[in-house]
Amino acid sequence: MESMAYIVAMCIKAVFLMKIKTRFAPSPTGYLHVGGARTALYSWLFARSQGGKFVLRIEDTDRERSTQPAIGVIMDGMHWLNLDWDEGPYFQTKRFDRYNAVIDEMLIQGTAYKCYCSKERLDILRETQMANGKKPRYDGCCRDNYEYLFANGPCVVRFRNPQKGSVIFNDQIRGPIEFSNQELDDLIIRRTDGSPTYNLCVVIDDADMEITHVIRGEEHINNTPRQINIFKALGAPIPEYAHVSMILGADGKKLSKRHGSMGVMQYRDAGFLPEALLNYLVRLGWSFGDQEFFTVEQMKQWFNLDAISKSASNFNIEKLLWLNHHYINHLPADYVATYLSWHIQQQSIDICTGPRLPELVKLLGKRCKTLKEMVASSSYFYQEFSEFNADAAKKHLQPVAIQPLQVVREKLAALTVWTPVSVYEAIVQTADKLEVGMGKVGMPLRVAVTGSGQSPALHITVHAIGQARSLSRIDMALLYIANCAR
Ligand code: GLU
Repeated sequence: MESMAYIVAMCIKAVFLMKIKTRFAPSPTGYLHVGGARTALYSWLFARSQGGKFVLRIEDTDRERSTQPAIGVIMDGMHWLNLDWDEGPYFQTKRFDRYNAVIDEMLIQGTAYKCYCSKERLDILRETQMANGKKPRYDGCCRDNYEYLFANGPCVVRFRNPQKGSVIFNDQIRGPIEFSNQELDDLIIRRTDGSPTYNLCVVIDDADMEITHVIRGEEHINNTPRQINIFKALGAPIPEYAHVSMILGADGKKLSKRHGSMGVMQYRDAGFLPEALLNYLVRLGWSFGDQEFFTVEQMKQWFNLDAISKSASNFNIEKLLWLNHHYINHLPADYVATYLSWHIQQQSIDICTGPRLPELVKLLGKRCKTLKEMVASSSYFYQEFSEFNADAAKKHLQPVAIQPLQVVREKLAALTVWTPVSVYEAIVQTADKLEVGMGKVGMPLRVAVTGSGQSPALHITVHAIGQARSLSRIDMALLYIANCAR
């Protein structure tokens, strides 16, 4: 016989060698919302931080509510956020044979039983319990009718939940949680139509897929004791559980579309970078000292379950915009440009005649919180305009601007070398020649070449617009002033 010390040593070794495996198990019944994306991120990060594996499982057993577009949206969101999986996607609807085989085995083992109670009986039971101020629950009427095992005909199958004792689990975020078995029902694991139910499928999947850590939303806490009892009945190892708290809107209510919360792909459409959303989501309920900015590599290195907050987090779009602005300006411009390119294509803008996209990122990054905003404020680099912004024109395209515009046009036209520096010098020389401040030249020139009163540094803007284009726009502005003065 092995010595006790040897067995203990083997157990310790087994624990240390245990490969961490997590999963993200969305139900494809709507869009991939912020809460779901955060759960996916935490599960992914935990696996990655521990050198473990990450599984994607689509829980599509609710055939009425699950849709193909929703599956597509989940996959798109995972791809866009770069949350890669090592196994899957598994689809529960493809595993019905497996679930039913386990249920049949459970019937034979006696950990499940057939229930022939009619709907009428169950309705009366529920009403009576409620009238007596009791929580409605199945009364176990068929629990001991062992001859039902051999009966045929439509029936449900119920799990034989222990009637005594309690289920205790050590939630990795919340600490020990206990449920008395008396509170738990003999839940239905197979419906009359033969379809297996949620709690059973999850357990069989988590067991078959060898999931070691289930990280999911707190709305599943009540399912956990039921699932643990099924694990025990199957003799399968019970995973660790970590239930992440809710995300709330500014009004303290559960985050929803009402609060402007969107699906992951809508954040892409609105001009966010995946790095910004990931950084935002990781901090929404997890902390690492006071640090606000995390590269994905740092998240992978430092993420742990201990530092996930027990309390709910508040969704704050301003903070997400602030992070997006940070990443637009701190990630390499070439990289940001690959995402900007998608937005440019959406607007069918031809960029051949203007600055290259990495240059545009550098030009406009400081002024923009989103890539969408960047595209909207970039049009004068690529497209001609026929009107000047009314307010800007009223202020700066006045007869007094004619001479500065004429002189600066002359100087810009004479440039044989077109660089930001030569453009800058042409503007300075104009102001010097006319003995006016830079603003008296700069503002009319800005309105003339961009059509608006705002742009990045003028010499850089004019340079990026190009010589011929700048000259023709100055001509257009001079014509405009002449027409207004008439
Ligand atoms: N399919 C469930 C949901 O989308 C998640 C189940 C689980 O993570 O155990 O809420």
